[in-house]
Amino acid sequence: MKRFSRKRILVTGGAGFLGSHLCDRLIQEDHEVLCMDNFFTGSKENITRLLPHPNFELVRHDLVQPIFLEVDEIYNLACPASPIHYQYNPVKTIKTCILGAIHMLGLAKRVKAKILQASTSEVYGDPDIHPQNEAYWGRVNPIGIRSCYDEGKRCAETLFFDYHRQNRVNIRVARIFNTYGPRMHPNDGRVVSNFIVQALQGKDITIYGDGRQTRSFCYVDDLVDGLIRLMNAPDEVTGPVNLGNPEEWTIRDLAEKIIAMTASSASIVFLPMPQDDPRQRKPDITQAERLLGWKPSTGVQEGLQRTIDYFRSVMG
Ligand code: NAD
Ligand code: UDP
Repeated sequence: MKRFSRKRILVTGGAGFLGSHLCDRLIQEDHEVLCMDNFFTGSKENITRLLPHPNFELVRHDLVQPIFLEVDEIYNLACPASPIHYQYNPVKTIKTCILGAIHMLGLAKRVKAKILQASTSEVYGDPDIHPQNEAYWGRVNPIGIRSCYDEGKRCAETLFFDYHRQNRVNIRVARIFNTYGPRMHPNDGRVVSNFIVQALQGKDITIYGDGRQTRSFCYVDDLVDGLIRLMNAPDEVTGPVNLGNPEEWTIRDLAEKIIAMTASSASIVFLPMPQDDPRQRKPDITQAERLLGWKPSTGVQEGLQRTIDYFRSVMG
């Protein structure tokens, strides 16, 4: 017999880094999980363990096309997240953000599902307030090489709030800050995976610019916990809510930390700074603490150690 508390939950982008961890957690909580992915940056390996599970279902589908399903909740995560991936086909990135949001919001409206959007700290662009809180409107270049992602995510937020106001769709918007952990793709170009892989292989650690730009790094388990809390929060909690770890690092300090933790012989090289690369980023998580009772519990030292162990195991 179906448990009363068991929900049918759609996770778009469920075969990706964050999505696969989210699917793990939702299956552990005894829900029925429908994982939808086009495998652009995700992979079946990320969800192999879940495939035999009777509550887990995998659908290969591209979110730029509509889909008709019956679900209770939707976590909309489908979108490449690393700059090299979202810049590979920028028009497709925008379509995924915007058509994907329209299709998922239309589905939510039709079946009266609750829907959560994986938005991003990139909506703040290259911020001139620090740390960033949700009231800040951001400083985003609308025509640069990061715009397909930044503006795509901003427009998706607009769509979420318009569907909420116009059609009473029950929405939640999470602004996710840089998240790392096991199952990041070794070649996905993001800073934590790049530096760990380079350090383990004894290759040059590639710092873009002078390394004084900052990011704040959240461990994946904490982030997934924040997403689930936001989905389960009372209906008036629409967000946007920042989810991230306020522990702020310069990229140079991160490189040195990873070299030390891996006891690597790698040296640091400095490469040109990519266009529009934000100079600083740190979440103000007051809202998440107040509304969700959430704050990260994994420090960067501990999270990096688990991530290094993971990459050691997959790289042999
Ligand atoms: P990821 O690239 O590992 O996962 C994205 C998943 O979406 C992949 O499985 C990919 O195949 C799938 N996908 C992409 N386009 C699709 C499409 N058109 N149709 C169906 N599936 C599609 O990235 P991630 O780090 O897991 O990020 C997940 C979500 O979280 C993204 O929306 C991203 O913008 C957001 N986010 C992530 C971070 C982070 O630091 N990881 C930070 C901010 C926001
Ligand atoms: N970065 C770097 N070397 C790398 C990869 C990234 O110095 O090999 C820098 C990048 O320029 C940025 C920061 O690290 O300043 C974070 O980059 P990432 O792509 O991980 O995330 P995002 O810029 O989207 O926050």
